Amino acid sequence: MVRSKKMLARALGVESSVCEEVEELAEQPGFVVHIRLRTRDLSRCPVCQEECPGYDQADRPRRWRTHPLGLGKTFVEAVVPRVRCPVHGILVAHVPWARPGAGFTTSFEDMVAWQAVRMDKSAVSDLNAIAWRTVGAILGRVGDAMKAKSPPLENVSSIGIDEVSYRKGHRYLTIVVDHDTGRLMWAHPGHDKATLTKFFKSLGKKRCEQIRLVSADAASWIAEVVKKRCPNATRCMDPFHVVAWVTKALDQLRRANWNKLRKQGRADEAGALKGSRWALQKNPVDLTKSQRSTLAQLKEDNRDLFAGYLLKEELRAVFQTKGWEGCWLLQQWILTAKRSRLAPFKRAAESIEKHRDAIQAALLNGLSNARLKGVNTKLKLLTRLAYGFHSQKPLIALAMMKLGGLCPRLPRLT
Ligand SMILES: [Zn+2]
Repeated sequence: MVRSKKMLARALGVESSVCEEVEELAEQPGFVVHIRLRTRDLSRCPVCQEECPGYDQADRPRRWRTHPLGLGKTFVEAVVPRVRCPVHGILVAHVPWARPGAGFTTSFEDMVAWQAVRMDKSAVSDLNAIAWRTVGAILGRVGDAMKAKSPPLENVSSIGIDEVSYRKGHRYLTIVVDHDTGRLMWAHPGHDKATLTKFFKSLGKKRCEQIRLVSADAASWIAEVVKKRCPNATRCMDPFHVVAWVTKALDQLRRANWNKLRKQGRADEAGALKGSRWALQKNPVDLTKSQRSTLAQLKEDNRDLFAGYLLKEELRAVFQTKGWEGCWLLQQWILTAKRSRLAPFKRAAESIEKHRDAIQAALLNGLSNARLKGVNTKLKLLTRLAYGFHSQKPLIALAMMKLGGLCPRLPRLT
């Protein structure tokens, strides 16, 4: 009998307790297993886990969901005493099988988090009969536990910093990726100096000094914090952002031309220009046959716009070339764009000139936020799952599990 109780405790993931008896649930199909704390676990504070004096016996037993016995929901139930912690006050004692405040066992929560990393939302929700919002609360707790177990990464020398918008651009997360492993190191709500400072503070002075390269966009809040916190780092401007400036300049030029043609009553030509947007923006290798002919027509009809298109492609070539040759090409590009008659390109050239040191550093170190873009795209997909969560915490926890290597192991019998 004692042996079968021990087996039951292990099967339910509550081996740290003593199983007493199993009953069928009265209110729904399923089981409740009565358990009790081992004597040595009687009086610990649930917050600091320090041993402290007992206060009284809780008046009602508490229940936690755990792994199912067969097809029904299964709970473990125990009467847990209250303790008086000198720091945290009078609280229900720590139980070794569940996290503070959780209505699920630790082992069950780890399994749900493992599933949330690999399965879709409704599968996790339906399989466990748990609302997605509650899955969010579980993810938050598992995320905290995984973070507490994993010290900051050692010997990180090259990082990328970016921001991800979500909730239709109303909210932002600042994310940091280790370029060498491609892992998400950190994500936090907000996109400002105070937010990024938190990251470097969590890293500590010694690890900040080990950082040699930082890639980011042109945001001044990033540049200022990096300069202050990472004395040995060279800041590299992300080429993707630089090309994006010029792509935007090209689109401004296209729209200006479109308006001009419309005002002149040349509706057909204006219409053709309107359809040229994607042909102008795409990389040449990705063009469809009809987009190629659109461009060929543009070359004949609109020399300014075609000149702008060539400038955009030349800038892309600068970043493909890289190294000192890339730096030289960049200088030539700035001169050509400034000399052109195309106002949006003159402005883009001025911005590029202003950030030339950081752009050259990217060319010389071959660093880009390309890896970050991958993480960014995956994170954007995750933000869709986060709609049902009550805060950003579960989203960040899920991101760190999925992209930062902090997923808990699937609980198994050992
Ligand atoms: Zn305490």
